[in-house]
Amino acid sequence: MSRYINSIDEETIVKILLAYLRDELSHRDIQREILGLPAPTNGGGFIAMDILHHFNIYGKKKGILKKRQLSDELQISEGNYKVALKKLTEYINAEKEAQQCIENGDYSYSSKSTELTTETKVRINQNVLRNHILKNYNYQCALCDINKSDLLICSHIKPWAIDPDNRLNPTNAICFCVLHDRLFDRGYFGLNDHYEVIFSTKSDESERKLLKDSIFKIPKDFPPDPEFLRYHLNEICKR
Ligand SMILES: [Zn+2]
Repeated sequence: MSRYINSIDEETIVKILLAYLRDELSHRDIQREILGLPAPTNGGGFIAMDILHHFNIYGKKKGILKKRQLSDELQISEGNYKVALKKLTEYINAEKEAQQCIENGDYSYSSKSTELTTETKVRINQNVLRNHILKNYNYQCALCDINKSDLLICSHIKPWAIDPDNRLNPTNAICFCVLHDRLFDRGYFGLNDHYEVIFSTKSDESERKLLKDSIFKIPKDFPPDPEFLRYHLNEICKR
């Protein structure tokens, strides 16, 4: 029994499986890049290895999904390895379905998968929308020049929990950097119908100075819906 498996969420497990079975990453690289843990040259990567072993995944499976279709590999698998491949299959399907739903304008999608947890399904939707939004905003904050993807956030205008019908709606999301996301999310400022910055009473000199010359870069596709912006101004950005 793995010592680490229970402390790792399902989404991370899926990422580890893909990294090893498809992308041929080493244990050390998986440990560093996916688990965010140090992996020294000598003996590094044993946590990633321990997790893979839990699913009966050993050296000869490295890169197997480059040579063989996932569905074929699933058919000939057994035990914990089959469990892992089933999870992986449902994850990939749920991602594809969410993408399809955005394209079809069905924004309330939630996967029917019985293999994945609710948290994972939520994360899949958030990831798919995030990818869509970052691309739509050319991988740059709508208010400043920040363009590093690990500093960019897919910011919801009307909160996720409140409006399940618009969870995947690209016009209910904006690409902001971490700072602008936080200021928007906490109601320091909002945007009017012309995408101009409007301050709330929470903002004092420092926030106003930071934002006063900012111009919102309106994306070509899926600009924020003024109806959501008005909701945000009235309910979150109190003036
Ligand atoms: Zn910014």
